[in-house]
Amino acid sequence: EARSLGRGGIRFFDATMQAALEERVRLEDWLHKALPDQFRLYYQMQVDGAGAIQGAEVLIRWLHPERGMIPPSEFIPLAEETGMIQPIGRWVLETACRQLKAWEADVAMRHLKLAVNVSARQFRQEDFVREVLDVVRATGADPANLKLELTESMVVENIDQVVDKMATLKATGIQFSLDDFGTGFSSLSCLRRLPLDQLKIDQSFVRDVTENANDAAIVRTIIALGQSLGLEVIAEGVETAEQRNFLAVHGCANFQGYFFSRPVPLDDFEQQFSAARRHP
Ligand code: C2E
Ligand code: MG
Ligand code: MG
Ligand code: MG
Repeated sequence: EARSLGRGGIRFFDATMQAALEERVRLEDWLHKALPDQFRLYYQMQVDGAGAIQGAEVLIRWLHPERGMIPPSEFIPLAEETGMIQPIGRWVLETACRQLKAWEADVAMRHLKLAVNVSARQFRQEDFVREVLDVVRATGADPANLKLELTESMVVENIDQVVDKMATLKATGIQFSLDDFGTGFSSLSCLRRLPLDQLKIDQSFVRDVTENANDAAIVRTIIALGQSLGLEVIAEGVETAEQRNFLAVHGCANFQGYFFSRPVPLDDFEQQFSAARRHP
Protein backbone atom coordinates (compact mmCIF):
# COMPACT_ATOMS: atom_id res chain seq x y z
CA GLU A 1 0.00 0.00 0.00
CA ALA A 2 1.15 3.50 -0.73
CA ARG A 3 3.35 5.32 1.72
CA SER A 4 3.32 2.46 4.22
CA LEU A 5 6.54 1.86 6.10
CA GLY A 6 7.76 -1.54 5.02
CA ARG A 7 10.87 -3.28 6.32
CA GLY A 8 12.74 -2.07 3.26
CA GLY A 9 11.75 1.54 3.90
CA ILE A 10 8.99 3.58 2.33
CA ARG A 11 7.12 1.97 -0.55
CA PHE A 12 5.30 4.40 -2.76
CA PHE A 13 3.57 2.06 -5.08
CA ASP A 14 2.66 -1.56 -5.38
CA ALA A 15 1.59 -3.86 -8.17
CA THR A 16 -2.12 -3.54 -7.46
CA MET A 17 -1.98 0.23 -7.64
CA GLN A 18 0.12 0.03 -10.77
CA ALA A 19 -2.46 -2.24 -12.42
CA ALA A 20 -5.35 -0.01 -11.36
CA LEU A 21 -3.61 3.02 -12.78
CA GLU A 22 -2.86 1.28 -16.06
CA GLU A 23 -6.49 0.17 -16.31
CA ARG A 24 -7.63 3.71 -15.72
CA VAL A 25 -5.32 5.12 -18.37
CA ARG A 26 -6.49 2.43 -20.79
CA LEU A 27 -10.18 3.10 -20.13
CA GLU A 28 -9.65 6.83 -20.44
CA ASP A 29 -7.90 6.37 -23.76
CA TRP A 30 -10.67 4.06 -25.00
CA LEU A 31 -13.35 6.42 -23.77
CA HIS A 32 -12.12 9.16 -26.08
CA LYS A 33 -12.54 6.88 -29.08
CA ALA A 34 -15.83 5.33 -27.99
CA LEU A 35 -18.28 8.02 -29.01
CA PRO A 36 -20.66 7.40 -30.66
CA ASP A 37 -20.12 3.97 -32.27
CA GLN A 38 -19.51 1.94 -29.14
CA PHE A 39 -22.37 3.35 -27.08
CA ARG A 40 -25.92 2.08 -27.06
CA LEU A 41 -28.98 3.10 -25.13
CA TYR A 42 -30.93 0.35 -23.40
CA TYR A 43 -34.54 0.89 -22.43
CA GLN A 44 -36.07 -0.34 -19.20
CA MET A 45 -39.85 -0.11 -19.10
CA GLN A 46 -41.68 1.85 -16.43
CA VAL A 47 -45.21 0.62 -15.73
CA ASP A 48 -48.24 1.91 -13.86
CA GLY A 49 -50.38 0.07 -11.32
CA ALA A 50 -52.30 -1.73 -14.08
CA GLY A 51 -49.04 -2.86 -15.68
CA ALA A 52 -49.37 -0.50 -18.65
CA ILE A 53 -46.07 0.72 -20.07
CA GLN A 54 -45.72 4.46 -19.50
CA GLY A 55 -42.26 4.78 -20.97
CA ALA A 56 -38.72 3.79 -20.11
CA GLU A 57 -35.55 4.85 -18.40
CA VAL A 58 -32.67 4.99 -20.85
CA LEU A 59 -29.45 3.42 -19.58
CA ILE A 60 -26.16 3.74 -21.41
CA ARG A 61 -24.17 0.68 -22.43
CA TRP A 62 -20.59 0.68 -23.65
CA LEU A 63 -19.86 -2.18 -26.02
CA HIS A 64 -16.11 -2.28 -26.29
CA PRO A 65 -14.77 -4.27 -29.28
CA GLU A 66 -12.23 -6.16 -27.14
CA ARG A 67 -13.59 -5.91 -23.63
CA GLY A 68 -17.27 -6.52 -24.30
CA MET A 69 -19.89 -4.73 -22.23
CA ILE A 70 -18.45 -2.24 -19.75
CA PRO A 71 -21.07 -1.27 -17.15
CA PRO A 72 -21.82 2.41 -16.45
CA SER A 73 -20.56 2.02 -12.88
CA GLU A 74 -17.08 1.50 -14.38
CA PHE A 75 -16.98 4.42 -16.78
CA ILE A 76 -19.48 7.09 -15.72
CA PRO A 77 -17.32 8.14 -12.71
CA LEU A 78 -14.25 8.27 -14.98
CA ALA A 79 -16.19 10.20 -17.61
CA GLU A 80 -17.21 12.65 -14.86
CA GLU A 81 -13.62 13.14 -13.70
CA THR A 82 -12.22 13.66 -17.17
CA GLY A 83 -15.03 15.83 -18.51
CA MET A 84 -15.94 13.22 -21.14
CA ILE A 85 -19.37 13.10 -19.48
CA GLN A 86 -20.28 16.24 -21.38
CA PRO A 87 -20.19 14.82 -24.91
CA ILE A 88 -21.49 11.49 -23.60
CA GLY A 89 -24.36 13.13 -21.76
CA ARG A 90 -25.24 15.14 -24.81
CA TRP A 91 -25.22 12.01 -26.97
CA VAL A 92 -27.58 10.27 -24.52
CA LEU A 93 -29.95 13.23 -24.52
CA GLU A 94 -29.89 13.54 -28.31
CA THR A 95 -30.46 9.85 -28.84
CA ALA A 96 -33.37 9.79 -26.38
CA CYS A 97 -34.96 12.92 -27.89
CA ARG A 98 -34.60 11.57 -31.44
CA GLN A 99 -36.37 8.41 -30.27
CA LEU A 100 -39.18 10.41 -28.68
CA LYS A 101 -39.60 12.31 -31.94
CA ALA A 102 -39.79 9.05 -33.90
CA TRP A 103 -42.44 7.66 -31.53
CA GLU A 104 -44.47 10.84 -31.76
CA ALA A 105 -45.30 9.93 -35.38
CA ASP A 106 -47.10 6.80 -34.12
CA VAL A 107 -50.45 7.29 -32.33
CA ALA A 108 -49.89 4.24 -30.16
CA MET A 109 -46.43 5.35 -29.00
CA ARG A 110 -46.66 9.10 -28.88
CA HIS A 111 -47.48 9.15 -25.16
CA LEU A 112 -44.32 7.24 -24.20
CA LYS A 113 -41.95 9.08 -21.89
CA LEU A 114 -38.20 8.69 -21.58
CA ALA A 115 -36.27 9.25 -18.38
CA VAL A 116 -32.66 10.37 -18.90
CA ASN A 117 -30.01 10.26 -16.17
CA VAL A 118 -28.14 13.51 -15.74
CA SER A 119 -24.72 13.45 -14.11
CA ALA A 120 -23.66 15.95 -11.47
CA ARG A 121 -20.98 17.56 -13.62
CA GLN A 122 -23.34 17.82 -16.57
CA PHE A 123 -26.01 19.51 -14.47
CA ARG A 124 -23.52 21.90 -12.86
CA GLN A 125 -22.39 23.14 -16.28
CA GLU A 126 -23.31 26.75 -16.82
CA ASP A 127 -24.87 26.04 -20.20
CA PHE A 128 -26.75 22.88 -19.15
CA VAL A 129 -30.16 24.50 -19.61
CA ARG A 130 -29.26 25.87 -23.03
CA GLU A 131 -27.88 22.51 -24.11
CA VAL A 132 -31.05 20.68 -23.15
CA LEU A 133 -33.22 23.29 -24.86
CA ASP A 134 -31.02 23.13 -27.97
CA VAL A 135 -31.29 19.36 -28.17
CA VAL A 136 -35.06 19.41 -27.67
CA ARG A 137 -35.47 22.08 -30.33
CA ALA A 138 -33.09 20.43 -32.80
CA THR A 139 -34.72 17.02 -32.50
CA GLY A 140 -38.27 18.36 -32.40
CA ALA A 141 -39.16 16.10 -29.47
CA ASP A 142 -42.13 17.07 -27.31
CA PRO A 143 -40.49 18.24 -24.06
CA ALA A 144 -43.50 16.90 -22.13
CA ASN A 145 -42.25 13.39 -22.92
CA LEU A 146 -38.79 14.02 -21.53
CA LYS A 147 -37.98 13.39 -17.88
CA LEU A 148 -34.62 14.24 -16.36
CA GLU A 149 -33.35 12.21 -13.41
CA LEU A 150 -31.32 14.11 -10.84
CA THR A 151 -29.92 12.81 -7.56
CA GLU A 152 -30.09 14.35 -4.11
CA SER A 153 -26.38 15.22 -3.97
CA MET A 154 -26.81 17.37 -7.10
CA VAL A 155 -29.61 19.48 -5.67
CA VAL A 156 -28.47 20.22 -2.11
CA GLU A 157 -25.74 22.68 -3.08
CA ASN A 158 -26.56 26.07 -4.59
CA ILE A 159 -30.24 25.43 -4.22
CA ASP A 160 -31.24 28.78 -5.74
CA GLN A 161 -29.31 28.05 -8.91
CA VAL A 162 -30.68 24.52 -9.03
CA VAL A 163 -34.26 25.75 -8.68
CA ASP A 164 -33.64 28.34 -11.43
CA LYS A 165 -32.31 25.73 -13.84
CA MET A 166 -35.12 23.33 -13.12
CA ALA A 167 -37.79 26.02 -13.39
CA THR A 168 -36.55 27.18 -16.80
CA LEU A 169 -36.66 23.63 -18.15
CA LYS A 170 -39.94 22.85 -16.44
CA ALA A 171 -41.57 25.85 -18.09
CA THR A 172 -41.13 24.06 -21.42
CA GLY A 173 -42.84 20.92 -20.10
CA ILE A 174 -39.78 18.88 -19.18
CA GLN A 175 -40.29 16.80 -16.04
CA PHE A 176 -37.95 15.98 -13.17
CA SER A 177 -37.47 12.86 -11.10
CA LEU A 178 -35.29 12.56 -8.00
CA ASP A 179 -33.36 9.30 -8.53
CA ASP A 180 -32.08 6.97 -5.80
CA PHE A 181 -34.26 8.82 -3.34
CA GLY A 182 -33.56 8.11 0.31
CA THR A 183 -29.83 7.45 -0.11
CA GLY A 184 -28.78 11.11 -0.05
CA PHE A 185 -29.15 13.84 2.47
CA SER A 186 -31.61 16.28 1.00
CA SER A 187 -33.64 17.99 3.68
CA LEU A 188 -37.38 18.34 3.61
CA SER A 189 -37.09 22.11 3.19
CA CYS A 190 -34.86 21.54 0.17
CA LEU A 191 -37.29 19.00 -1.25
CA ARG A 192 -40.20 21.36 -0.81
CA ARG A 193 -38.48 24.03 -2.93
CA LEU A 194 -37.60 21.84 -5.89
CA PRO A 195 -40.02 21.79 -8.82
CA LEU A 196 -40.07 18.00 -8.98
CA ASP A 197 -42.61 15.69 -10.61
CA GLN A 198 -41.48 12.35 -9.26
CA LEU A 199 -39.59 10.64 -6.44
CA LYS A 200 -37.82 7.43 -7.31
CA ILE A 201 -37.45 5.08 -4.35
CA ASP A 202 -33.93 3.68 -4.37
CA GLN A 203 -33.61 0.00 -5.09
CA SER A 204 -31.68 -0.61 -1.85
CA PHE A 205 -34.93 -0.07 0.10
CA VAL A 206 -37.01 -2.15 -2.30
CA ARG A 207 -34.71 -5.19 -2.17
CA ASP A 208 -35.76 -6.40 1.31
CA VAL A 209 -38.98 -4.47 1.65
CA THR A 210 -41.06 -7.58 2.31
CA GLU A 211 -38.67 -8.96 4.97
CA ASN A 212 -37.06 -5.98 6.64
CA ALA A 213 -39.29 -3.86 8.87
CA ASN A 214 -36.97 -0.83 8.65
CA ASP A 215 -36.91 -0.87 4.86
CA ALA A 216 -40.68 -1.30 4.83
CA ALA A 217 -41.04 1.72 7.11
CA ILE A 218 -38.73 3.82 4.93
CA VAL A 219 -40.60 2.85 1.79
CA ARG A 220 -43.99 3.67 3.33
CA THR A 221 -42.60 7.01 4.51
CA ILE A 222 -41.25 7.92 1.07
CA ILE A 223 -44.58 7.06 -0.56
CA ALA A 224 -46.48 9.15 2.01
CA LEU A 225 -44.01 12.01 1.57
CA GLY A 226 -44.45 11.93 -2.20
CA GLN A 227 -48.20 11.90 -1.84
CA SER A 228 -48.26 14.84 0.54
CA LEU A 229 -45.96 16.86 -1.75
CA GLY A 230 -48.14 15.99 -4.74
CA LEU A 231 -45.38 14.00 -6.44
CA GLU A 232 -45.62 10.79 -8.39
CA VAL A 233 -43.69 7.96 -6.73
CA ILE A 234 -41.91 5.24 -8.68
CA ALA A 235 -40.01 2.29 -7.21
CA GLU A 236 -36.85 1.04 -8.92
CA GLY A 237 -35.33 -2.42 -8.58
CA VAL A 238 -38.67 -4.25 -8.29
CA GLU A 239 -37.75 -7.90 -8.80
CA THR A 240 -40.66 -9.88 -7.37
CA ALA A 241 -44.47 -9.89 -7.33
CA GLU A 242 -44.33 -9.63 -3.53
CA GLN A 243 -42.32 -6.40 -3.72
CA ARG A 244 -44.66 -4.98 -6.34
CA ASN A 245 -47.72 -5.88 -4.24
CA PHE A 246 -46.29 -4.41 -1.06
CA LEU A 247 -45.50 -1.17 -2.89
CA ALA A 248 -48.91 -1.05 -4.56
CA VAL A 249 -50.80 -1.69 -1.32
CA HIS A 250 -48.96 1.23 0.25
CA GLY A 251 -49.84 3.60 -2.56
CA CYS A 252 -46.90 3.44 -4.97
CA ALA A 253 -48.38 3.63 -8.46
CA ASN A 254 -45.33 3.28 -10.72
CA PHE A 255 -42.75 0.56 -11.00
CA GLN A 256 -39.49 -0.36 -12.69
CA GLY A 257 -37.37 -3.46 -12.29
CA TYR A 258 -36.44 -6.93 -13.45
CA PHE A 259 -39.89 -8.22 -12.43
CA PHE A 260 -41.23 -6.30 -15.44
CA SER A 261 -38.15 -6.30 -17.64
CA ARG A 262 -34.41 -5.85 -17.67
CA PRO A 263 -33.04 -2.91 -19.66
CA VAL A 264 -33.15 -4.01 -23.33
CA PRO A 265 -32.15 -2.67 -26.76
CA LEU A 266 -34.67 -0.45 -28.57
CA ASP A 267 -36.06 -3.19 -30.84
CA ASP A 268 -36.82 -5.40 -27.86
CA PHE A 269 -38.46 -2.54 -26.00
CA GLU A 270 -40.68 -1.79 -28.99
CA GLN A 271 -41.60 -5.47 -29.18
CA GLN A 272 -42.46 -5.52 -25.49
CA PHE A 273 -44.66 -2.51 -26.05
CA SER A 274 -46.55 -3.92 -29.00
CA ALA A 275 -46.94 -7.33 -27.32
CA ALA A 276 -48.39 -5.61 -24.24
CA ARG A 277 -50.86 -3.74 -26.45
CA ARG A 278 -52.02 -6.98 -28.08
CA HIS A 279 -52.36 -8.80 -24.75
CA PRO A 280 -52.98 -6.16 -22.12
P1 C2E B 1 -29.79 4.33 -11.89
O1 C2E B 1 -30.14 5.53 -12.67
O2 C2E B 1 -30.27 4.29 -10.47
O3 C2E B 1 -30.32 3.10 -12.73
C1 C2E B 1 -30.86 1.92 -12.18
C2 C2E B 1 -29.86 0.79 -12.26
O4 C2E B 1 -30.46 -0.37 -11.66
C3 C2E B 1 -29.49 0.38 -13.67
O5 C2E B 1 -28.16 -0.09 -13.64
C4 C2E B 1 -30.46 -0.77 -13.93
O6 C2E B 1 -30.00 -1.67 -14.93
C5 C2E B 1 -30.48 -1.43 -12.58
N1 C2E B 1 -31.71 -2.16 -12.35
C6 C2E B 1 -32.92 -1.97 -12.91
N2 C2E B 1 -33.84 -2.82 -12.42
C7 C2E B 1 -33.20 -3.59 -11.51
C8 C2E B 1 -33.62 -4.67 -10.66
O7 C2E B 1 -34.77 -5.08 -10.63
N3 C2E B 1 -32.66 -5.21 -9.84
C9 C2E B 1 -31.38 -4.75 -9.83
N4 C2E B 1 -30.52 -5.34 -9.01
N5 C2E B 1 -30.96 -3.75 -10.62
C10 C2E B 1 -31.86 -3.17 -11.45
P2 C2E B 1 -27.11 0.34 -14.77
O8 C2E B 1 -27.78 0.36 -16.10
O9 C2E B 1 -25.90 -0.51 -14.57
O10 C2E B 1 -26.78 1.83 -14.39
C11 C2E B 1 -26.14 2.14 -13.17
C12 C2E B 1 -26.09 3.62 -12.93
O11 C2E B 1 -25.29 4.26 -13.93
C13 C2E B 1 -27.46 4.28 -13.05
O12 C2E B 1 -28.18 4.13 -11.85
C14 C2E B 1 -27.06 5.72 -13.33
O13 C2E B 1 -26.70 6.37 -12.14
C15 C2E B 1 -25.80 5.53 -14.18
N6 C2E B 1 -26.17 5.67 -15.61
C16 C2E B 1 -26.69 4.77 -16.46
N7 C2E B 1 -26.90 5.31 -17.68
C17 C2E B 1 -26.52 6.61 -17.60
C18 C2E B 1 -26.49 7.72 -18.51
O14 C2E B 1 -26.91 7.63 -19.67
N8 C2E B 1 -26.00 8.90 -18.03
C19 C2E B 1 -25.57 9.05 -16.74
N9 C2E B 1 -25.09 10.24 -16.34
N10 C2E B 1 -25.58 8.05 -15.86
C20 C2E B 1 -26.05 6.84 -16.27
MG1 MG C 1 -31.76 6.59 -13.00
MG1 MG D 1 -32.01 5.00 -9.75
MG1 MG E 1 -29.81 3.54 -8.44
